[in-house]
Amino acid sequence: MALWCEQAWLAEGWRNNVRLSVENGRISSVEIDVSAAPRDERHTVLLPALPNLHSHAFQRGMAGLAETAGASDDSFWTWREVMYRFVDRLDPDGMEAIAALAYAEMLESGFGRVGEFHYLHHDVDGRPYGDVATMAQAIAAAAGETGIGLTLLPVFYAHSGFGGTTPMHGQRRFINDVSRFANLLEGVREAVAGLDDAVVGVAPHSLRAATAEELVDVAAMAAGAPIHIHIAEQVPEVEACLAWSGKRPVEWLFDHADVGTDWCLVHATHVTDAERLMVAASGAVVGLCPITEANLGDGLFPAREFLAEGGRYGVGSDSNVEIDAAAELRLLEYGQRLLHRGRNQLAGGAAKSTGASLYRGAFAGGGQALGRSTSGIAMGEAADLVSLKGGDPFFAGRSGDSLIDSWIFGGGARLVDCVWRGGVKRVEGGRHIDRDAIDARYRAAMAKLLA
Ligand code: ZN
Repeated sequence: MALWCEQAWLAEGWRNNVRLSVENGRISSVEIDVSAAPRDERHTVLLPALPNLHSHAFQRGMAGLAETAGASDDSFWTWREVMYRFVDRLDPDGMEAIAALAYAEMLESGFGRVGEFHYLHHDVDGRPYGDVATMAQAIAAAAGETGIGLTLLPVFYAHSGFGGTTPMHGQRRFINDVSRFANLLEGVREAVAGLDDAVVGVAPHSLRAATAEELVDVAAMAAGAPIHIHIAEQVPEVEACLAWSGKRPVEWLFDHADVGTDWCLVHATHVTDAERLMVAASGAVVGLCPITEANLGDGLFPAREFLAEGGRYGVGSDSNVEIDAAAELRLLEYGQRLLHRGRNQLAGGAAKSTGASLYRGAFAGGGQALGRSTSGIAMGEAADLVSLKGGDPFFAGRSGDSLIDSWIFGGGARLVDCVWRGGVKRVEGGRHIDRDAIDARYRAAMAKLLA
C-alpha cells in the first residue's frame, strides 16, 4: 500500500508532498517532495494516531445514565453506585458488543491503540467463569473486530478499602487473590495471542484494592510490561489513605513500589509539590483523563507545573462518557486556563503551538504507557495513521501546526477522515468500515441490559 499526502507530520516535523509505503503493517519508506504515483491513495493532512491510555470500555454503555442529581451531594461515589448496578447484568456478549462500539468510536476520533483497564472478570454471582479469562476474551474479540491496537491491563482487585478490608457485594465480579490473578493473567495472554501487536500489562486497581504485599507480587508479574494504577483521583481517597497510613497515596506508592518508566499513574489529580516532582523524576507516565475527571468532578491535575518539570503524560477516555481524542487534549488545556486565568498554558514556550505540543506530549507518553513507544511517522514504525478532512472549509488557509490547533480547539472528531491501524484502513470518511454491524449488535445488547 502507498499513501500520498499534501502535508504530513513526520517524526522530524511537518513535510509537504509526502509519499509513504507500508508493508506488513509498518512504514517501509518515506519520500518527501515527490508527486503521487498513479495508484497512490491521496490525502491532504496525515498524523500519527494518538494512543488512548486508559479505558473501561463497558462504561460506554452507561454514558448519560448517571447525569441525574442524587439525594445527597452527588459525586464519584454515587456514580460508582450506578456503575455497580449496571455491571450486575453484563454478560460476555454484552461486554463484546459495548467494547466494539467504544473501540470503533475511538478509532473514528483518531485514537489508534487503547489501554483497556479491565476489571470486570467474573460471572454475575461473583464466581469465575469456567474459563477465568472469558471477559478478557470478549475484550480481545472487540479489539480484533474493530482493529484497534490493544494493550490489555487485567486488573488486580482484592479489597474494598485501605488495609485489606473485605470486598463489598457490588465488587464481587472484580475480585481475585494473587494466585487466581496469576491464572487470569495467563488466560489473558492467551486471549490476545491471535491479535496483531497486542500487549499485556497488569493493573493493581488502586491502593484501596491491593495490600502492600499484593502490590509487590502483582507488579512483579508484569515482567517489564506496563503497570497501571488508579491513584489520588478523589480527595476522600487521599484522606482515607492519610488516616490509614499517615501518608498520601502517591507518597505511599513511592515508598512501597519501584515506580519507574514502566508505570502509569492514572489521574494523580491530588498531589503535593513534592509528590509531583517525585513522579516527574521517576519517568512514570501520568494518565490524565480530562473529560472523565471533569464529569466526575475529580479536580485538576497541576499539569502546567508538571510539564515544565519534564513530566510525562498521556490521555485516556476512562469512563468513555464522551469519546474524542481532540476533546481530551482541549479540555486538558482549558482546565489549566480556567485555573490559572490565562491562555496557552501547556504550549511549552513562546511561539509554540499549544495543540502541537499537547499532541506530541500525549503521543510520546501514551506510547510509553501502552508498551509501544514510537517516534511517529518514520521508517520502520507501525502504520497507525490519521488523516484529517483537509478539504473541509474549516481548514481553509491552515498549514502545519495550525492544522492541529484547529482540529483540537475548533473541530474535534468530525474532522477525522481516515484511520489506519497496522497499515489497515479501519475508518473512512469519519466512519468505521464495520459501523452498521457494530451498531446493530450494540443496540441489541443495550435493549437486553436496560430492559
Ligand atoms: Zn479508570
